[in-house]
Amino acid sequence: MKRIIYIPFDHLNRNYGALKEADPKVDLVAMVESSRMTTGDRWHPERLFFMISAARHFASDLRQNGFTVEYAKAATTLDGLAEISAKHSGLPIVCAEPSSFKQHDALKLYGVSYVENDFFLTPRKLFSQWADSQNSYLMENFYRKQRVRLDLLMDGTQPAGGSWNYDKENRLPPPKNYSWSPYLTHERDGIDRDVAEQLGHIPSSTWATTRQGALLQLQNFITNHLNEFGPLEDAMTSENWAVHHSLLSPYLNVGLLHPSEVVNAVEAAYKAEKISIQSAEGFIRQVIGWREYVNGMYWYLGESYRDHNNLGASRPLLPLYEDSTKTQMNCVKEIVSDINERAWVHHIPRLMVLSNLALLTGTNPQEFLQWMREKFIDASDWVMVPNVIGMGVHADGGLMMSKPYAAGGAYISRMSNYCKPCIYNPKNRTGEDACPFTTLYWDFLDRHRKDFASNHRMAQQYSGLNRLGDLDQLRLRATEVLDGLTQGLI
Ligand SMILES: Cc1cc2nc3c(=O)[nH]c(=O)nc-3n(C[C@H](O)[C@H](O)[C@H](O)COP(=O)(O)OP(=O)(O)OC[C@H]3O[C@@H](n4cnc5c(N)ncnc54)[C@H](O)[C@@H]3O)c2cc1C
Ligand code: SF4
Repeated sequence: MKRIIYIPFDHLNRNYGALKEADPKVDLVAMVESSRMTTGDRWHPERLFFMISAARHFASDLRQNGFTVEYAKAATTLDGLAEISAKHSGLPIVCAEPSSFKQHDALKLYGVSYVENDFFLTPRKLFSQWADSQNSYLMENFYRKQRVRLDLLMDGTQPAGGSWNYDKENRLPPPKNYSWSPYLTHERDGIDRDVAEQLGHIPSSTWATTRQGALLQLQNFITNHLNEFGPLEDAMTSENWAVHHSLLSPYLNVGLLHPSEVVNAVEAAYKAEKISIQSAEGFIRQVIGWREYVNGMYWYLGESYRDHNNLGASRPLLPLYEDSTKTQMNCVKEIVSDINERAWVHHIPRLMVLSNLALLTGTNPQEFLQWMREKFIDASDWVMVPNVIGMGVHADGGLMMSKPYAAGGAYISRMSNYCKPCIYNPKNRTGEDACPFTTLYWDFLDRHRKDFASNHRMAQQYSGLNRLGDLDQLRLRATEVLDGLTQGLI
């Protein structure tokens, strides 16, 4: 053997990263299952199960394809690597650039050399060049460049369908009397059962742990969900936990699927006239726009970006995030229960309910980030940090987003069916039955006048606030709501 190729659990692809040019005759593959993973952070058991089982399946596939794989179980990744290195002394260790600052620095210090991380469509250098040339880092500008560069949904130099963006048509509320297409379930095999037993966890059937399963998920999405994805992408409903979302993020984030095969499959469905332009564009924007942009910003903004707290938010994490019985708000109750069940909810509950609540209540961004990292199936550091710090709770002083995603109960009421059975009324901002989101939305604008009142994108919101005749009452109710939330009573 000539070298050791180290495969982190988020580089599970034979055709990308350090395995792309690997030769089973001269390359030994090293993988490490660190007990820090199972005993360090309090990861959701669905995520742990998914990560470990996907890695063990991948190791098994590599062995079947002729590779020698050393799969170590050790206290830490570096301990595991040291163990494998000791057995094969003198061999250099190679890895694709890791996907988090922490791992990047630790492995570099250990002496691992890197090849380019091509699990994304945008090399880090190219993103930096784009960001350096911008006054503000508008995702929309980045996305349009990506469409042209990657030649996706283009008619020559013009966007297919005549428009770059179909967001306006993609904001429908959940439909009534609708028959939802079924979601795939995944059967468990021997490797899955071993991992489940080791973790003492009974896994849901939601997440596949193999490339074959991930490909089935992609196919199922394209055949049964993609056409309705666009118009309903922001809708939330207690009738269907997934709506028409793809559920592909975990596979994309660990390498079982590559973003190029996903967007090419979606474009092919559009070209074959199987899906509308609204859905094709809406989905491709998420992958070549948001996903690439967020990864680019993670590396561009640097390791200290995660520590921003520009709004001085200091409230400890509310108890309702850990325990859905600690709130009477129907939307939060439903969403936290869904997360407990399968470690996933789509982008609107993440942004407009969970993050919005953290923003409006002045919850400490780092505590909220930690909670989000622990709870989601797809919670890689590179994606969670910018989404939470920049987009979710606007803790970065507007580096990523020009205004905070703050909203009252009216938004949640319009985009979901959560409010009807709720004891609160989204229309009321004061009084016992006032929706906490509505009260806290106005209170947030009031408390942060100096931060946002001169922001021209928030002029309409501030002119609304200035017209309120019951501000004193509202401030009193906001104090009651914040106390009640802290005590787990609201
Ligand atoms: C506060 C907050 C936290 C988030 N944390 C994560 C996270 O830890 N991991 C994660 O993968 N996504 C995260 N997202 C993005 C998004 O919510 C999830 O990617 C999506 O819900 C996953 O489900 P899906 O695969 O069905 O996505 P779909 O709605 O079907 O979208 C397709 C794909 O687009 C990509 N995508 C869409 N939006 C984003 C985005 N904002 N950032 C990056 N990729 C995006 C994902 O790869 C996703 O699989 C977060 C969003 C918010 C607002
Ligand atoms: S009324 Fe307010 S708290 Fe209740 S479900 Fe609607 S938005 Fe949530």
